[in-house]
Amino acid sequence: MAEGTHGVQGEARGEANGGGAPARMRWWGWGEAAHPPVLPAHALEFLRETVGVAERPRPPVALARVRLPEALLDRDALARLRELLGAEGVREDRLERVLHAAGKGYPDLVRMRAGQPGEAPDAVAYPRDHEQLRALLELCARLSVAVVPFGGGTSVVGGVAPLRGEHRGVIALDTARMAAVRGLDRESATVTVQAGVRASALEHHLAMRGLTLGHFPQSFEYVTLGGCAATRSAGQASSGYGAIEKMVLGLRLAAPAGEIELPALPASAAGPGLRQTLVGSEGALGVISELSLRVRAAPRERVYEGFFFEDFAAGERALRTLAQEHALADVARLSDEQETRMSLALAGGGGVKGRAGRAYLALRGYGGGCLAILGFEGEREEVAGRRGRARELIRGFGALAVGRGAGEAWRAGRFTAPYMRDELLTHGVMVETLETAAQWSRLRALHDAVAGAIERALRACGTPGLVMCHISHVYETGASLYFTLIARQREGDEIGQWRAVKDAAGEAIVSGGGTITHHHAVGRDHLPWMERELGAGGLAALRALKHELDPAAIMNPGKLLALSR
Ligand SMILES: Cc1cc2nc3c(=O)[nH]c(=O)nc-3n(C[C@H](O)[C@H](O)[C@H](O)COP(=O)(O)OP(=O)(O)OC[C@H]3O[C@@H](n4cnc5c(N)ncnc54)[C@H](O)[C@@H]3O)c2cc1C
Repeated sequence: MAEGTHGVQGEARGEANGGGAPARMRWWGWGEAAHPPVLPAHALEFLRETVGVAERPRPPVALARVRLPEALLDRDALARLRELLGAEGVREDRLERVLHAAGKGYPDLVRMRAGQPGEAPDAVAYPRDHEQLRALLELCARLSVAVVPFGGGTSVVGGVAPLRGEHRGVIALDTARMAAVRGLDRESATVTVQAGVRASALEHHLAMRGLTLGHFPQSFEYVTLGGCAATRSAGQASSGYGAIEKMVLGLRLAAPAGEIELPALPASAAGPGLRQTLVGSEGALGVISELSLRVRAAPRERVYEGFFFEDFAAGERALRTLAQEHALADVARLSDEQETRMSLALAGGGGVKGRAGRAYLALRGYGGGCLAILGFEGEREEVAGRRGRARELIRGFGALAVGRGAGEAWRAGRFTAPYMRDELLTHGVMVETLETAAQWSRLRALHDAVAGAIERALRACGTPGLVMCHISHVYETGASLYFTLIARQREGDEIGQWRAVKDAAGEAIVSGGGTITHHHAVGRDHLPWMERELGAGGLAALRALKHELDPAAIMNPGKLLALSR
């Protein structure tokens, strides 16, 4: 029996995102307008010296100067959408179209800041529940209107690009009004939510009840649970809590030609895993309207601490051993030499990252080494036991403990990077991230190959840059690699520069035996590599499923699957 379900419904009715519509992000960047700047002066100086910055700041254009394409949806179609969703449920004003014109990837931000999104939805629809969703998708199929599901809009792979394909119109389908927590089953440790609930709102809701979902992507503040499930998202504590695919136990999907309802189950052998097929479906098969998710008791003890390894290889062996010996921390991260150097240079201040700390590291022979962060969460004694064992194991790989300060500093700043990215763009600095995963036996070679490919591509653009990487999701059989690159923007050809880097990295990833994406999903940007990832047979099977659920191909055209057959 679900415990306290009625109370939860009453409290959370339509209000999981804080009551009414959640706060909006800046249309040209991350966060809300009131957020203070985060790029310290010494960091800017460091960038000026290493990669170079623009002579004059390059702020985003004013909203009024954004060039929107003409909306093609006719009055009749709009009237029918309004009949279904009410006047409030369909918006076509400038701000709404701009807010839904792109996600938050680097090329999205470059285009938006320049006031040239290229594409924009004709209108934005806000359904309230599964039934409205079903009716809306049926109507759009009849009208030949493409539908782009839009959760937090934080996709970094062009997942919410408003492509219309062959259709007469395109709408963004924003799930912001589908934001209720439907019920909490304490006995089974599951919560059921509408897809538009933000991860941050759900975490707050659960924390008040002594629970946690444990899903903390860097984009945590703005992502929705529906968007996370649709992209197979992985949070920073995935080594302990698992990625979203491990959390989704049941879901409801509304599609133009039908619906699928899969109740929450701990496990099932009833055929191939349909739940897992819909997790990661990126809005191309339908819209996830509700999800049942596994929750856990909120940890009473949290210990985050830093360690140094002499080099990336030693740190990698240590993480592999932790995973294979079942002694992994909940958060397990290892920066390579370049990323460690960069974070020491940018940090300033005291602790291990301060001048005295750096001298201490140099003295101990770790001057050019790699920083690892291990974070343990749980009950006090259980944390102490796991932590003790992990420390013992990694000591065998030369780990130098540098204390909780480094761990806590990482924890405090773990959602800061996207704010900093906006400021770097203002200074003409390109900052892009991309990720992959591979088996341990290939990981180091893949790391070197991808970093090398990005460096060469940047040099060929005449903008040599810094390429750094960390491991942040660790498995018994392998791990993820997350690359960050920083270079001076090639002014006037920012997108060409980005494309050159992306192509080089993608080729190096698939040639080196990595997946084209560990957690950012496919969207539009990773499509060129999908056939090499799934094979022609795998792609054909996905297409067949899409055809069954979405015969008119209105769902998120050009994402996950290419537009043409
Ligand atoms: C700065 C930054 C840091 C990030 N860090 C991480 C990270 O640590 N881990 C990680 O996994 N990702 C990360 N991402 C990527 C992004 O946040 C994730 O892909 C996230 O899961 C998207 O959620 P969203 O609600 O914003 O979805 P959106 O961006 O709105 O949509 C993503 C895709 O899912 C589809 N979609 C959205 N809602 C639904 C629905 N209800 N049903 C069906 N389809 C739907 C959309 O059409 C789109 O294709 C980061 C992004 C940024 C900008």
